Amino acid sequence: MSEFKHFEYMEKHRYEQVVYFYDKTTGLRGITCIHNTTLGPALGGTRLWNYASEEEAVIDCLRLARGMTYKAAAAGLNLGGGKTVLIGDPETVKSEGYFRALGRYVQSLNGRYITAEDVNTSTKDMDFVSMETDHVVGLEGKSGNPSPMTALGAFHGISAALQYKFGDETISKYTYAVQGAGQTGYYLIKKLVEMKAKKIYFSEINKKHIARLQKEHPDVEFIEPKDFFKANVDVLVPCALGGVFNGDTIPQIKAKIIAGTANNVLLDDDIDGNLIKEKGILYAPDFVINAGGLINVYHEIKGYNIGRATRDIEKIYDRLLEIFKIAERENIHTQLAAKVFAKKRIETINNLQDNYIIR
Ligand code: NAD
Repeated sequence: MSEFKHFEYMEKHRYEQVVYFYDKTTGLRGITCIHNTTLGPALGGTRLWNYASEEEAVIDCLRLARGMTYKAAAAGLNLGGGKTVLIGDPETVKSEGYFRALGRYVQSLNGRYITAEDVNTSTKDMDFVSMETDHVVGLEGKSGNPSPMTALGAFHGISAALQYKFGDETISKYTYAVQGAGQTGYYLIKKLVEMKAKKIYFSEINKKHIARLQKEHPDVEFIEPKDFFKANVDVLVPCALGGVFNGDTIPQIKAKIIAGTANNVLLDDDIDGNLIKEKGILYAPDFVINAGGLINVYHEIKGYNIGRATRDIEKIYDRLLEIFKIAERENIHTQLAAKVFAKKRIETINNLQDNYIIR
């Protein structure tokens, strides 16, 4: 494998800062990447993973931090993008000391970076982090579980996509297939049921999740995971894994809209974004439609208020309409249009700062 050129990569994608830290007491080993802070402090969760190599860890951290910049910018938040990865075995490394050590490194960045839970870290772990720093969100007893808010945002996103594609966003007129009835899929299905969706199918691999849904919503029909892509419905709602839309699955699609909560659903943004566009399917960009949880947690920084957070999450509807229009006008796929939209906001706010004002 060729050597990973850190500074070349940072220069190419305009990263601001990469910090390596090691705590001699607990053995904590981690990396914080700050991609861009034009709009505000970089926010991104802390992921704990048994990375095969340090290079794999830093590349993951860099990639995730950049994703957070676009997600926050497209969500209209005054936040930049950042991420922390910890290298270790989630089964063995966790302790109060470990996360307090992390909190001290977060504090050392003096508010340039705000952390939260992520894969293999929990709100309980973040409680330990909060003993050492105020720059942590998603704590127990504050904004709470982000999943219902992510689902709510995706619901507004589905409405926007229906409006744009069919000129009518009445949920009850359409049919849906949801992939994954876990944290977010479950709440999204609940909302679609509440709005009297014409028909909902769901696919799952977890028996408990299948049973829960069949008990609570017997009208929501189970379909085998392999049948999800070719489901004869208006909207495909991915709420499970990444990389699911690719050269094998896209040709099977009959639906006219793809809109769900899952991250990185396009295996390759450009290749698959274009394939979807060529098939005349409207794709709601993942990092825009699934920003409800991030918007919710952002409100913790300002003093959490559920009414304000919910109103901000509703704005995903307008934002998606704007992105769909950019895609149509520029004749580009919607994932690219979302990046154009995010970059434009960062650039505009950056340029505003050209003129000196006294505060
Ligand atoms: P989750 O693990 O609770 O749910 C995912 C569900 O998908 C599980 O029940 C799993 O059994 C099921 N699944 C896995 N493989 C499947 C397959 N092949 N076919 C059908 N079902 C399958 O996760 P979640 O929190 O609901 O997150 C789902 C997606 O949304 C992820 O991509 C996540 O990154 C993204 N997301 C979540 C949030 C949030 O607030 N939880 C926020 C933004 C993005």
